[in-house]
Amino acid sequence: MSILEVENLKKSFGSLEVLKQISFDVNKNDVIAVIGPSGSGKSTMLRSLVQLEEIDGGSISVNGEYMVKGGAYSKPQQVKQIISKMGMVFQHFNLFPHLTVRENLELAPKLLKQGTVAENRALSMELLEKVGLSDKADVLPAKLSGGQKQRVAIARALMRKPDILLFDEPTSALDPELTGEVLRVMKDLAKEHMTMIVVTHEMEFAKDVASKVIFMDNGEIIESGNPRDVLTTPKMERTKTFLHRTL
Ligand code: ADP
Ligand code: MG
Repeated sequence: MSILEVENLKKSFGSLEVLKQISFDVNKNDVIAVIGPSGSGKSTMLRSLVQLEEIDGGSISVNGEYMVKGGAYSKPQQVKQIISKMGMVFQHFNLFPHLTVRENLELAPKLLKQGTVAENRALSMELLEKVGLSDKADVLPAKLSGGQKQRVAIARALMRKPDILLFDEPTSALDPELTGEVLRVMKDLAKEHMTMIVVTHEMEFAKDVASKVIFMDNGEIIESGNPRDVLTTPKMERTKTFLHRTL
């Protein structure tokens, strides 16, 4: 069953065409690894899915409901509803520095008036436990390592019980010794059948965990498919060149 359908997505910044007719589907339980050189449009693509960027053309639907169809956005209320089923994790964590870990998790449900205070408290503690940080509930983000911050960000994204989680280079800002703990949490989520799109340079993760790899270059999907095929026997010259540079 397809959770997310993206069709002919187009996006320009001024005269710079950043996304050119991007189309792909995400099925329930898929882990999609998106790889590609810097500047190829990976972040813009991901940000478009949660309307952090407005697209110029194309369609995005989640669970069969259109957020935007043929470049025309649905009513704000519907767009908001659709986005609320997606969680996003950023490269630089984007935690609120003045709020404790637990407050970071509970802020959005509080503002959106989702659940009771007690329910949100129980959920935040459950999720902190899940990412191995229940002892950090009352500290400020500044007291945490990068890996811990990112695990908090993942727990925060899970608070809305998303149908799909989006990760934009979640380990790129981390020291190498801290990437493992974040990748482990992501692997656990995959094992629990969380549907995810992960923009990443971690080729081992893509190979081990992804159900599908999408290679983007210059605003286009050049090649996509089974991780082993795309990563070990790529068909396209541009994919080969990229992988040679990366590995
Ligand atoms: P990636 O994540 O693959 O590195 P991005 O989606 O961040 O690529 O960027 C794709 C292209 O769009 C780059 O050339 C980048 O400079 C440009 N770009 C991204 N965001 C903006 C923006 N807000 N304004 C202008 N250009 C942008
Ligand atoms: Mg990026």
